[in-house]
Amino acid sequence: MKRVRFAPSPTGYLHLGNARTALFNYLFAKHENGSLILRIEDTDLERSKKEYEEMLIEDLKWLGIQWDEGPDVGGNYGPYRQSERLEIYYKYVDKLLKSGDAYYCYCSEEELEKEREKAIAEGRPYRYSGKCRNLTPEERADYEAQGIKPVVRFKVPDKTVIFEDIIRGHVEIDTKEFGDFVIVRQDGMPVYNFVVVIDDALMGITHVIRGEDHLSNTPKQIVIYEALGFNIPQFAHLPIILGEDRTKLSKRHGAVSVRALKDDGFLSEAVFNYLSLLGWHPKDEREILPKEEIIKQFRIEDVNKSPAIFDRTKLRWMNGVYIREILDLEELTKRSVEFFEGFGYKADFEFYKKVMEAIRDSIETLMDIKERAKVFFVDEFPFTDEIVAEVKSDPNFYKVVEIFYEKVKGLDKLTKEDFKTITKEIQKEYGFKGKALFHPIRIALTGESSGVSLDLLVEVIGIERVKFRLKRFLE
Ligand code: GLU
Repeated sequence: MKRVRFAPSPTGYLHLGNARTALFNYLFAKHENGSLILRIEDTDLERSKKEYEEMLIEDLKWLGIQWDEGPDVGGNYGPYRQSERLEIYYKYVDKLLKSGDAYYCYCSEEELEKEREKAIAEGRPYRYSGKCRNLTPEERADYEAQGIKPVVRFKVPDKTVIFEDIIRGHVEIDTKEFGDFVIVRQDGMPVYNFVVVIDDALMGITHVIRGEDHLSNTPKQIVIYEALGFNIPQFAHLPIILGEDRTKLSKRHGAVSVRALKDDGFLSEAVFNYLSLLGWHPKDEREILPKEEIIKQFRIEDVNKSPAIFDRTKLRWMNGVYIREILDLEELTKRSVEFFEGFGYKADFEFYKKVMEAIRDSIETLMDIKERAKVFFVDEFPFTDEIVAEVKSDPNFYKVVEIFYEKVKGLDKLTKEDFKTITKEIQKEYGFKGKALFHPIRIALTGESSGVSLDLLVEVIGIERVKFRLKRFLE
């Protein structure tokens, strides 16, 4: 059984890079009929917050990612929060200390700083000298008597670590490049590179799929697996995500968290679909794919190693496709209610639905509702100076509106078809057609020179509001 994990640190909102990592783990698990584990990496007590954990979970769910084991759903390999696993980690620290694969290090910050300066002066990269590797029991006792709190370092063997990354291929790193690294800090907290190994091993993780920024951690983790005699999982390091300017995706590129996209009116299905294409693509050139199809086609070995570019314009386009063509009207309207309300557009669900039907072809995000739907809610809009000047300079402008008003004022309903019939009549009887006919009516009804089709507008807002707007214009 294949087992993968997504292991976020609850120190902020779910960033798109992490969301893509979660998604690829999910796709792999689903495609392989395996299990996805959610593990909360909260050993950084200062930066980790319970609220962030809750938001991460909410955002993952919103995106449509489900896991089989985790702090919220339980499972046989828990606890799933690192802060609840400290006892387990200490057991393995002891084991490494006993076997001689780890040692206490009492070097002070100043001493380490000196080592660092020396390395810089000699033009070589800094590695811990290994000074405390072979302390005698007396030397240790002496440090302890002075009340110096040690860190625990892993005794890194001299070797070349080799592994075959599913995405990046053959990787070789000489352990001289990193030297003996700290696995337990002075305050007693074990560090990421150590606990991640214990957790992945004990949780039976078979494939570690994570961002490329962790590639340099992998050899450090492998030497720990080896020292503890654990099975080493397979690794797959996902390509970095860049902004359109080819720099690492960050806040400078606008909304880069899942939550921000949600608030900006993106649909979860579109974000899911778009993120799946960051580093992967289906065999044919189709880009709009339902979740089931992505799961069916997704193979981790097909992921590219070159950077993926986050293209917001393309995401907007894709979101527009989901709005126009994929969600059904009822569902689309449900998702839109909070946006309508947020813009102060008050109405009942049926009315929202009619508006959505009229505008869905012309919006890309639910934020666009604000501008596009305005004409359905606001009867008393301003006429700009430009409009006033235009009306004054063209005697037919006012006349067309007047004629239209005469035609509708006696009616008690006005459907799309009625609107078409009436405008045809005006064309026949008075010779106004095209822009000369529709532009004045549009201005009178909306104050704007372009927008939704008028037949839809009048049907949705109804005859009384049409009369109100026409009268208001004519006065
Ligand atoms: N907590 C780490 C992160 O958020 C997890 C890295 C890993 O997947 O090993 O980057």
